[in-house]
Amino acid sequence: MQTKLIKIDADDPNKEDMREAAEIIRSGGLVAFPTETVYGLGANALDPEASKRIYAAKGRPSDNPLIVHICRFEELLSIAKEVPPQAEKLADAFWPGPLTMILPKADIVPRETTGGLDSVAVRFPSDRIAQVAIRMPNHPVALALIDESGCMIAAPSANTSGKPSPTEAGHVALDLDGKIPMILDGGPVGIGIESTIIDLTEKVPMILRPGYITKEMLEEVLGEEVRIDPGIIASDSTKKPKAPGMKYKHYAPKADLVLVEGEQEAVVAEINALVREKQAAGLKVGVVATDETESLYQADYVVTIGARSDEDAIARHLYKILREFDDWNVDAIYSESFSTPRIGQAIMNRLMKAAGHQVIHV
Ligand code: AMP
Ligand code: MG
Repeated sequence: MQTKLIKIDADDPNKEDMREAAEIIRSGGLVAFPTETVYGLGANALDPEASKRIYAAKGRPSDNPLIVHICRFEELLSIAKEVPPQAEKLADAFWPGPLTMILPKADIVPRETTGGLDSVAVRFPSDRIAQVAIRMPNHPVALALIDESGCMIAAPSANTSGKPSPTEAGHVALDLDGKIPMILDGGPVGIGIESTIIDLTEKVPMILRPGYITKEMLEEVLGEEVRIDPGIIASDSTKKPKAPGMKYKHYAPKADLVLVEGEQEAVVAEINALVREKQAAGLKVGVVATDETESLYQADYVVTIGARSDEDAIARHLYKILREFDDWNVDAIYSESFSTPRIGQAIMNRLMKAAGHQVIHV
């Protein structure tokens, strides 16, 4: 299959291009498109065959459900069996935006979209199979595509399963060229990590995936306690995460990645010592540094993720950097850790998974 890569002006999407993309969605095909979080791989959420194409293109395990993207709050009423008052509050505060809600699903949503295939029914508690994840993205191209196609769009991140999520159209092309008919290139994304997922089917609302919208922000709007799924904090597999996708070793670069945590000076010394050790064994080594520490490292590749004080930049650059190390074929990567105040939890959740929870404390 020939993949058409179309440049789209995010502020003023070309009508003709959007019509063509929408036509692909309506006829059951796949279109990769930019959102404010990461690039998504979209298909008509109510068409089971279209959903299956997403799993095939990504090599995604069939028990890992898709998020349905909408462009009007009212659409929620047609795909969710119940809309609790909490959903309305959160929608008012954060939609369109990087927040996904888990709600009981209505019958029109096929189980192919929610990961509810026969095989999934075995792996999932029944309450979860009946849920659908819903998000209203805050990106003109994404919204135009949903609107123009007249479809609600099921879309996971537009990467091959297990690779870092794409934050530029070029990343999508590397993974999916020849496998999908169209990529809409709206330039680099703004946020760079996936949406926060909140489960509203739980008695106490529960964060299944940390993201740009934090626990504190959610609690303030809801006026009640929000919990974090214990399964995503555990570094071992003793507790299963409630979002099926969180159990996979995602975002893994090809090289072995180890995080080093502690005071800046000690971290730099430790990483430099580790690099020397690996290089002595004939290996090629990369380091993830910050603007402040970049010049202090000696390694084959030293990359800065941004200024330590700029959390948003760290989130935006994370996946791109992990992909770069893949291109350079390094054997080992050492990274500083980024437990920054606001979105540090979301950043570290991604990094820890990429590192397979290998952390050295100094
Ligand atoms: P991605 O689209 O790649 O960002 O992945 C979507 C994430 O949402 C995965 O971790 C899924 O497991 C999770 N998800 C989607 N639908 C549900 C659901 N109904 N219940 C729990 N998690 C879900
Ligand atoms: Mg993904």
